[in-house]
Amino acid sequence: MKNMEKKVLSGKNYIGNSLEATGDTIFHTFNPRINNWNKTDFIEATELEVEKTIQLAHTAFQKMHKIGGPQRASFLLAIVEGMEARKKAILVHYCSETGLSEERCLTELNRTLFQLRSFAELILTESWRNPSIDLANPEAKPPSPDIRKTRIPLGPIVLFGASNFPLAYSTAGGDTAAALASGNAVIVKSHPMHAGTGEVVASAIIEAAIKTGMPEGVFSNLNAKGFEVGKQLVTHPLIKSVGFTGSIRGGTSLIKLANQRKEPIPVFAEMGSVNPVVLLPKMLEEEMDKWSTHISDSIMAGTGQFCTSPGLIFMLKNDTSTTFIQQLETKLMDYESSCMLHPNIYDQFERLKNERSINCALTEKEGALPPNFARQTIAHVSGAKYLQDHSLQEEVFGPFTLVVKFNTVNELLQGISQLNGQLTGTIIGTTEELQENSSVFLNLQNKVGRLVLNGVPTGVTVCPSMHHGGPFPSSSDSQFTAVGIDSILRFTRPVCFQNVPDDLLPLELKNINRCKIQRRVNGLFSGDSFG
Ligand code: NAP
Repeated sequence: MKNMEKKVLSGKNYIGNSLEATGDTIFHTFNPRINNWNKTDFIEATELEVEKTIQLAHTAFQKMHKIGGPQRASFLLAIVEGMEARKKAILVHYCSETGLSEERCLTELNRTLFQLRSFAELILTESWRNPSIDLANPEAKPPSPDIRKTRIPLGPIVLFGASNFPLAYSTAGGDTAAALASGNAVIVKSHPMHAGTGEVVASAIIEAAIKTGMPEGVFSNLNAKGFEVGKQLVTHPLIKSVGFTGSIRGGTSLIKLANQRKEPIPVFAEMGSVNPVVLLPKMLEEEMDKWSTHISDSIMAGTGQFCTSPGLIFMLKNDTSTTFIQQLETKLMDYESSCMLHPNIYDQFERLKNERSINCALTEKEGALPPNFARQTIAHVSGAKYLQDHSLQEEVFGPFTLVVKFNTVNELLQGISQLNGQLTGTIIGTTEELQENSSVFLNLQNKVGRLVLNGVPTGVTVCPSMHHGGPFPSSSDSQFTAVGIDSILRFTRPVCFQNVPDDLLPLELKNINRCKIQRRVNGLFSGDSFG
């Protein structure tokens, strides 16, 4: 494993197509499973290197408008090929930088490749731009002009990935796929905890860019272990948007930086969430065993290090809920504990758990554990106490859930109305209970991006109808999804052409419908040509 690491990695930055590193700030990734540092020296990008990268991205972006959908699609498919060819190296670095299993790596890799393929298919036609045409009407009073609308890319985009998805939400993850698919240039600020995985994936992207004739600078990958590189990127006037997946603290600092610029820019931040689960009593009476298994599995998935982990459970105080929680605790404590991604994440888990112990009773996994292994924990608090302490709904990233027992449905509704914005909300109940408690459904719907009925929040299906992004602070803009092909809309903006002659219009807006797509013409969808 160590040999492979030495052979494949340079520790340098991809500045456009070349590997460069003139800086002297060195850092290492960490293997939490063996509690030791990995060998490769990663070299943080210098201020000059960051500037050079931005200039390259700016120039590349200006050339990208000449590169049509099919060529960009070939680029994405060539990334898939390159990543498949590097599967072994990806596996080695992914596992040694995260402590996650090979099985998990392969699942995430497949998902990442699926995302890239989906965007490649999407951009073969121009339908994704939602073209809309309102033909001139000289007879109208007053006469109306010819107005046509499409979407165009934003410009060079800076992307930050999260520690817990080194592939699917990182270097070639959903944000990168969406931003490249729509014709942007991308600079990834590599996650310092999986910089090696990042470099291997970046090499596949660069190889694909060269192979498919993309301009140099369409993609770069910069190493950094501190905030300075990220700050320089986000505040640079040539950067036009930011994509971020990570903690609420990280996301809100970047939003602040972007808003303080002379020209504020959009930051699409996908942040933390506690994903409340409301358990109604009749369903628990009927299917207690099933739901205690599903929920404990969901809490433990990925050692609780998923943005959709169920971190908060709302119940009514009664005998059924007492028995259910006893069962849930037994099942949860039966799991073998597992290691967290990094000692920093483990330390933060421990710190937040200790903070919770001031106001809540904790039940934790017992016995000796190796370093970096998380003790799964259930915390308990009364509805009354919970309603008084807003900090109790903050994310404890790891295998942790807080059970809140309310005395009445009204108290439970108050708990829901006090919730911050969430990625998901779940209700488990019988059809009858759901009808009787329709206000629970309606109130929870207003707080979340995805409402799950009789299921668990973990496991985000990648499909066009998925919405992954809820009201603030789970996301910075609840109108957009970070998962699925609609996520392409984030890195584009509408532009409207008024009285522009046909030869100057983009393909999807021309009179002759060469793309053979449905367009909205005078308000109705049609595949017709005209003029
Ligand atoms: P993180 O600490 O916020 O880091 C994410 C990235 O942002 C890293 O590259 C980090 O660089 C950078 N960063 C953080 N704060 C910054 C700042 N103030 N200025 C500049 N750069 C900054 O998050 P993480 O620990 O990697 O990931 C775990 C979190 O991600 C959890 O809260 C989880 O819920 C969330 N998550 C959300 C989603 C979603 O779709 N909503 C998906 C996955 C994970 P440094 O490492 O150098 O600080």
